[in-house]
Amino acid sequence: MESSVVDIQQLSYRYERSLVLDDVNLTIRPGSFLGLVGPNGSGKSTLIKCILGLLKPKDGSVRLFDTDVGDFTNWEKIGYVSQKANRFNAGFPATVFEVVSMGLFGQIGLFRFPKKKHRTYVYEALDIVGMKDFARQPIGRLSGGQQQRIFIARALVSQPQLLILDEPTVGVDANAAQHFYDLLARLNNEHGLTLLLVSHDVGTLTRYVSDVACLNQHLHFHGSKEAFAKNPDLSALYGHDVQHIVHEHGEVAP
Ligand code: ADP
Repeated sequence: MESSVVDIQQLSYRYERSLVLDDVNLTIRPGSFLGLVGPNGSGKSTLIKCILGLLKPKDGSVRLFDTDVGDFTNWEKIGYVSQKANRFNAGFPATVFEVVSMGLFGQIGLFRFPKKKHRTYVYEALDIVGMKDFARQPIGRLSGGQQQRIFIARALVSQPQLLILDEPTVGVDANAAQHFYDLLARLNNEHGLTLLLVSHDVGTLTRYVSDVACLNQHLHFHGSKEAFAKNPDLSALYGHDVQHIVHEHGEVAP
C-alpha cells in the first residue's frame, strides 16, 4: 500500500500578484478522513485544484499515490464532487443511471453503450448511496439531497481510493446533510475510502472526520480532531467551540 495518498511539500501558489498558498506541507494517509477548513478566500479550492492537477504551481510538489501529479495518469483512483455540481432542473432528459454512468466515460468512451460489468458498477455505486431504486428516474425529479447522493455515486463508480468533496452540502437541507455525512462516515469506515472534505461548517465536520487541516494561506494546523479540539484558540478562530462538540460525542475524555 502507498505510504500516502496525497503528499504536498512546500507548495506555494499565486494568481498573478496575490500569493494564495504559502509553503503548504500536507500529507494525507490512506484510510483517513480529513476535514479541510478555513475562512472564505483562504485558498481551499486552490489547494484542491493543485491536487487535481488543474493548477500547476511553480513552487513545491504534489504527489498522488507516490507519483508526481504531473506524471499521474490513474485518475480513476480519485473521485471528485465539486461545490458547483450542477443541480439538474425538473425537465433534464437524463436518468439517474445515465448520470452515474458518466463517471465511467474514461473506461467506456463517449457515446458507447456500457457493458454488463459497467452496469454492475453503476448499480453497486447506487446501492452504496441508497439510491438503487431510483436508477430509471429522471434525475431532475430528485430533491437536492438525493441529487447530491447521485453525484457521490457518479464519483464512486470508477471505484476510487480517494474521494475529494468541496463544500458538498451547500444548498442541501440540514436533515439531508446529516444523512450525507453519515454516508461519508460509512464509506470511510466500511469501505476504507480515504476522504478529503472541504467545509466551512467546522462544528458538523468535526463530528465525522478523523483529522483536521486549517488553512489560511499557510497551513495553521494539521492533526487529529482531538488535538484540534484541545486548542481552543484554533477552534474558536475557525468558528466553533469544537471542544464542546467533541466532548458531547464522547470522542475525547472530558
Ligand atoms: P476558498 O476556497 O478558501 O474560498 P479560493 O482558493 O477560492 O479560496 O481563493 C483564494 C484566493 O484566491 C481568494 O482571494 C480568491 O479571490 C483568489 N482567486 C481564486 N481564484 C482566482 C483566479 N482564478 N484568479 C485570481 N484570483 C483568484
